[in-house]
Amino acid sequence: MKHLFSFITLFSLLITFQGFSQDQQSLDSIRNNPIYQLKQVDKSCQNPEVIADAANKVLALTTNSENTALTAKAYQLLGKSNWMQNNYILAIDLLKKSVNIYQQLNDSTELAHSLNLIGVCYQQKGQYDQALDYLQQALLIREKLKDKSKYASTLNNLGIVYRVTGHLEQSLIYYKKGYSIFKEIGDKNGYSTTESNIGLIYNQLENYEDALSWLLKSLETKKELKDTLGLASTYENLGQVNFNIANYTKALECLSSAINLFKVINNQHGLAVSNSSIAAIYLKRGNHDKAFEHITASQNIAEPSEDYAIIKDNYKLLSDYYFAKGDLPKSREMMNKYAETVEKMFGKQVSEKYAELTAGYETEQKEYQNKLLQANLQIEKYKLQRSKDSQLFYILIIIAFILLMIYTMLLLYRLRKKNYEIEKINSDLNVLNLDLEEKINARTKDLTEALKKAEESDELKSAFLANMSHEIRTPVNGMLGFARALEDESITTEDRKHYVEIVNRQGHILLQIINDIVNISKIDVGQFEIKKTACFSNTMLNDLYSMFSSNSFHNKNSNIELRMVKSLSDERCIIFTDPLRLEQIMINLLDNAFKFTNEGYIEFGYALDLPNKIKFYVKDSGIGIPEDQFKKIFNRFYKHKHQQQPLYGGAGIGLSISKGIAELIDGEIKVESKVGEGSCFSIVIPYIPISAAYGSNEYGEKIKKSNYSWPNKTILVVEDDLISYQYIEVLLKKTGVKMVHVKNGEDAIEVCQISKNTDLVLMDMQLPFISGYEATQKIKTFQPNLPIIAQTANVMNNEKVRCIDAGCNDYISKPIDPDEFMSVLAKYLS
Ligand code: ADP
Repeated sequence: MKHLFSFITLFSLLITFQGFSQDQQSLDSIRNNPIYQLKQVDKSCQNPEVIADAANKVLALTTNSENTALTAKAYQLLGKSNWMQNNYILAIDLLKKSVNIYQQLNDSTELAHSLNLIGVCYQQKGQYDQALDYLQQALLIREKLKDKSKYASTLNNLGIVYRVTGHLEQSLIYYKKGYSIFKEIGDKNGYSTTESNIGLIYNQLENYEDALSWLLKSLETKKELKDTLGLASTYENLGQVNFNIANYTKALECLSSAINLFKVINNQHGLAVSNSSIAAIYLKRGNHDKAFEHITASQNIAEPSEDYAIIKDNYKLLSDYYFAKGDLPKSREMMNKYAETVEKMFGKQVSEKYAELTAGYETEQKEYQNKLLQANLQIEKYKLQRSKDSQLFYILIIIAFILLMIYTMLLLYRLRKKNYEIEKINSDLNVLNLDLEEKINARTKDLTEALKKAEESDELKSAFLANMSHEIRTPVNGMLGFARALEDESITTEDRKHYVEIVNRQGHILLQIINDIVNISKIDVGQFEIKKTACFSNTMLNDLYSMFSSNSFHNKNSNIELRMVKSLSDERCIIFTDPLRLEQIMINLLDNAFKFTNEGYIEFGYALDLPNKIKFYVKDSGIGIPEDQFKKIFNRFYKHKHQQQPLYGGAGIGLSISKGIAELIDGEIKVESKVGEGSCFSIVIPYIPISAAYGSNEYGEKIKKSNYSWPNKTILVVEDDLISYQYIEVLLKKTGVKMVHVKNGEDAIEVCQISKNTDLVLMDMQLPFISGYEATQKIKTFQPNLPIIAQTANVMNNEKVRCIDAGCNDYISKPIDPDEFMSVLAKYLS
């Protein structure tokens, strides 16, 4: 591409012919003469065929041996015609003939003209040494001739040769010299052509800005001149510069304009060059088919005319084309052809260049092959990698599959475990359900029982109320009735005695009922006092025997035999328990035995029982108790309705109290019975024997000290109830003690203040106005050592504490038990 601008010389040659008008012949006489025609053609004709025709006609007229100026002109013009048709070898040959003749004729002007043309032909043929040689000869002659226009023209041609041989600086010097001369003489054709050439040099020097500037200047002038060839050449050059600055669209535009103009003037060289340039653009753009099309078009023109500069460039383009297509042998073949052409053009000087190019090409090819090899290696590596990758992929898939299997198995195991757990939970739930059902059943049973008990309790309550009403009314009625009877003064002393006895007995019964109720409530609230001490069992049994055998109330039926059984000696019978409570239980049992036995016997006593137990019992031959009642009779207020028996008296609490007391003295009460045969109640307590020498016998003591005597003592009795006072009076009568009676607290305080002889105060705590507590407190302020004994009907447990807190020394509960009363008093008076 770089060397495709030799067409410019075409234009330069035209300039060469401007001074061509040496022959002076009359125009009229020779108008139809071949010589005249030759002169005309020489002046202005641009058509090579017309020129050749005129020249051949002249040569046909001249003899072979004649070396006239005409012959020389004919050769010169024929050479010119062939040059115009790119037949350079023939052109050079013909021009050299003209040179020989002009040298002989010594015609410097024409000689320089022919030499100039030969130089141009060699240049276009690519034989630059010869070109330079001939052009230098022409330049020297023209310098001498001082023909500025022609001189500038040859300078221009030399510039072309230096340019195409790569001596750009040299070329620029020649061009600029020629340009200034053309400018000086105002030769538009000349300077516009040179502008174009300078533009090309700047292009090669890669100074594209200056290149475009010079070429556009040239273009304007060519347009002015309407110089088709010049315009086409400049467009071609502009295309080249735009190509170099990668403005391919603009380049294509310029080259298309060039081709169109070259077609107009049928300039084959120009067409070849432009097509070649367009092909280079298409190769750059990667449009290989279009590129090949244009290379072929260019080569088809260049080859017949042996335009090697273009041919070689086309080979280079073809090599690039095949390389781009990947057809390396073909590419190499084209490169070889390129080199051969270069060698042809530059001779030996370029063979080195060729070798260099070949080596470069081979290196390039090797590099390419290396690249190819590397690419193949890469592909193999990639394939290997891929196979490795795929192996890895399969391994990963297998691992993933195994993991999935393990996970699934774990899941199954978990599910199975869960199922097992669920089954277990279900079975547990079933068990719980059954348990719950059982519990519900039990609860239902309990509730039913509770309901039954509640109903029974309700019944008991009603029974209790009915009983109480009956049990309390009976003695009260008796007492009231006989008390009223006693008012009758007419009754006999014996009856009176009997009535009083009845009143007493009824009072005792009533008191017993009240005692029972109090006892049961005490047991309930845990205030029932137990005092364990030595108990003389034999003595206790003797007392009971005396009590029940002498008691006319119990001894109602003479058919009943009372038996007593003592199993141990007087020494061994002494046990550690609460004798009073034990006796209380025995009294209850004996009471019942007498109540429910009409005939036969009643036996009571004790016997040792295993292990370390002693059993006290009361056995009768009474009406007996059905077995299903054994538990119930110990319930509070429960009375069994014995079949075919009258309703017996009683509140239904005796056994329940006995049971409660038995438990308090660590015992257990039991019943054995058969209806119609009798019953046996027993209480089993721990047998803790105490030797006779150890401890005191409270029971015996009571008996021993029954005869008290305090004739020197004075007691102040504070009692608002006269009957109660009288009762105390009766109790103390035998002791000989002096008694002072006051009815309220104020009097008691006063007496104590006045008399200092009082040995003891018996203080009723429930007094009108000042209470016994207050009176006690006051008396104690001035007589702190005077013993004060409280007596109160309030039987609750904290009552004793309250009395002691008030300052009392001791405490007696109402109704007064004579024995207790006497023993307490004895403590302070004896
Ligand atoms: P009470 O005797 O006041 O009715 P208890 O609690 O002492 O109350 O007795 C309850 C019931 O036990 C009596 O109503 C009676 O039916 C029965 N019972 C008690 N002792 C005997 C006995 N020795 N023989 C037959 N039944 C008895």
